[in-house]
Amino acid sequence: MSSSTIGLSEDLRQYLLGVSCRESKTLKGLRKETFQLKEAQMQISPEQGSFLAFLVKVLRAKKTLDIGVFTGYSSLVVADALPDDGVVIACDTSEEWTNIAQKYWSEAGVNNKIRLELAPALRTLDKLIENGEPGTFDFSFIDADKINYDSYFEEVLPKMKVGGLIISDNVLWSGKVLEKVNSKDLSTMALQKYNEKLKNDPRVKTVLLPLRDGITLSWVR
Ligand code: CA
Repeated sequence: MSSSTIGLSEDLRQYLLGVSCRESKTLKGLRKETFQLKEAQMQISPEQGSFLAFLVKVLRAKKTLDIGVFTGYSSLVVADALPDDGVVIACDTSEEWTNIAQKYWSEAGVNNKIRLELAPALRTLDKLIENGEPGTFDFSFIDADKINYDSYFEEVLPKMKVGGLIISDNVLWSGKVLEKVNSKDLSTMALQKYNEKLKNDPRVKTVLLPLRDGITLSWVR
């Protein structure tokens, strides 16, 4: 037995999926359609989807934010885990990707719980303050352009309730975070800084899990 985390072989991952994930027909369809896109790797994995849904249930979350919708998998699993009066504010700038998302949200019957904001997320987040919504969100998922992770975090944090969770995806960045800082790779640099910052940020308590491409859970104090 080793004290380091098991590197999952494809067989072991399939076993994990088999004993822990129940992916609906709609989610499977969405995964299949997204797989045709050249950006398919931007989609979260089924085990991440189950994990997000699990967290939403445990938190008894009602108000949630999805920063970086892509083709809508994360918004769908979160919306599905929310109570009837729950909401996902889904932020993205791509009409093409969110058109796919909306098709599957409607198929899953969760459209009424998702408010799509087709605009730069930072602008949408600003609007939430104008609407008097600071301190009201239970759960946020940050999974958009890595260069802006810190800005998203800073904009999201004041909207969160104490005890809420901010989840950030891709924080291990396929291992590139180990590379020496290279000013040409702005995404890697941004993630290196972001991870160090979260570790020391007194406003949150953060754990980093090696789930897929690395995911951090920041609990708002
Ligand atoms: Ca991601």
